[in-house]
Amino acid sequence: MSSLVGELESIVGPVGCLHRSEELLVYECDGLTLHSAKPTAVVFPRSRDEVCSVVSVCRAHGVPFVPRGAGTGLSGGAVANDAAVIVECSRMNRILEINAEDRYAVVEPGVINADLSRQTAKHGLFYAPDPSSQLACTIGGNVAENSGGPHTLKYGTTTNHVLAIELVLPDASVVQLGSSTGFEPGYDLVGAVVGSEGTLGIVTQVTVRLAPIPERIETLLVSFPDVVTACRAVGGIIEAGLIPAALEIIDRRTIAAVEASVYAAGLPADAGAVLIVELDGAAVALPRQLERVKQICVRAGAAQVEVAADESERQRFWRARKGAFGAMGRLAPDLYVHDAVVPRSRLPEVLDEICAIGDRHGLILSNVFHAGDGNLHPNISFDRRDPEVLEHVMAAGSEILECCVRAGGVITGEHGVGNEKREFLHLVFSEADMEAMKRFRSCFDPDSVCNPGKIFPTTRFCAESNPKARGYDRVGFE
Ligand SMILES: Cc1cc2nc3c(=O)[nH]c(=O)nc-3n(C[C@H](O)[C@H](O)[C@H](O)COP(=O)(O)OP(=O)(O)OC[C@H]3O[C@@H](n4cnc5c(N)ncnc54)[C@H](O)[C@@H]3O)c2cc1C
Repeated sequence: MSSLVGELESIVGPVGCLHRSEELLVYECDGLTLHSAKPTAVVFPRSRDEVCSVVSVCRAHGVPFVPRGAGTGLSGGAVANDAAVIVECSRMNRILEINAEDRYAVVEPGVINADLSRQTAKHGLFYAPDPSSQLACTIGGNVAENSGGPHTLKYGTTTNHVLAIELVLPDASVVQLGSSTGFEPGYDLVGAVVGSEGTLGIVTQVTVRLAPIPERIETLLVSFPDVVTACRAVGGIIEAGLIPAALEIIDRRTIAAVEASVYAAGLPADAGAVLIVELDGAAVALPRQLERVKQICVRAGAAQVEVAADESERQRFWRARKGAFGAMGRLAPDLYVHDAVVPRSRLPEVLDEICAIGDRHGLILSNVFHAGDGNLHPNISFDRRDPEVLEHVMAAGSEILECCVRAGGVITGEHGVGNEKREFLHLVFSEADMEAMKRFRSCFDPDSVCNPGKIFPTTRFCAESNPKARGYDRVGFE
């Protein structure tokens, strides 16, 4: 152990390597605090070559390694299973090139999502994928999770914006995948790495597509008596052939939590749900679209329609949406953010069933979600110091996923499988499917040393609603 740490320190310097117990505490979990494991060490490389050297040393010592960005993941993806070494990419945070003519940027993996658009704005360009965590999360983490965000509806997820990737393979060699033109003969290996949750190697450079900043943006905050009516308005907007940049719903409980928090945005306290609609594009086209959206919402049962008068009001609406998860701390000390997708047309009935599941288990369940994509985030607020509650949280979580799959959906939209959902993979894949995926993974990582234990099931089914079987009982209660 001390020789491993010494060798790691010789690569990244003593300040670039944490190994004392108290230093490792904050690296035991990611945004899903229910899952934790202590890493052997956390290293902060500054370059691709240092990443290669770290991987070589880990291999020589027979210790696995886990790439990590900002640790905002919500599926335990950056957790150090098997006492792995965490390779934290935050010191690799340079924007290496902004090419306005060909509309791409080349960045290191530790660049923070929001910083990229901030830097490209002077060229009239932006990076479209905008997870609500964008003030903290990194491009490396976004690539690994194929992250989405409120503007996924019009612009697509991360995979639609990655042109090329530099990857340090688990044998410490380096491959370049894709090209800045977005065209590459042969298999789409860039597409395979995006969404691979850090199991195929460590991303050390990313070439991303940039988009022109829209000429005009209109943002509406529409209040409804309940979530189901808001969902019907979403269906109506899409059916009318409009493609808004975003269609986001916040329910009553979330409104109350937001308004009691630092993210308070003056949301109507008596609304059962609010829908944020954002339209963007050519200035000449937007007024008609805006009127059309207003009509559809009123016809669906909207109680009130507010249009942002200027950029600061628009930011006020978004502060409420993007701060919603943080505001949940107002409801209970612990939060379990679920993530599943259903066909948009099934949203009303699925939401009804999800709320009934929460009620049956006596849980505080709230919904804030990317309605335009059918991407749900049922959030369970709870206090794990209550010995019985964790079992109900887990059982409700299983039932929610099963309900979404029954409705023709999938078990994750944007947060990944990680440690959290690996026992649920069988709901959407057969044994043969999973074998094929494992064979694919082993082409990159034949010894399973890069982010071990993620994505694929480790126990037999039926374990998932038992917190002990899923390892949640190991988490400290204080
Ligand atoms: C408040 C809040 C709001 C959120 N909102 C959204 C949202 O709207 N949309 C959304 O999609 N997600 C959202 N998330 C989830 C999370 O922010 C995203 O998954 C994000 O992409 C994770 O980035 P990160 O840098 O924190 O990665 P981490 O959490 O550090 O890691 C995530 C995964 O990426 C892998 N990884 C990290 N860096 C690399 C690398 N260089 N090479 C290879 N693999 C790597 C890790 O091994 C891990 O599997 C939210 C999270 C929070 C806490």
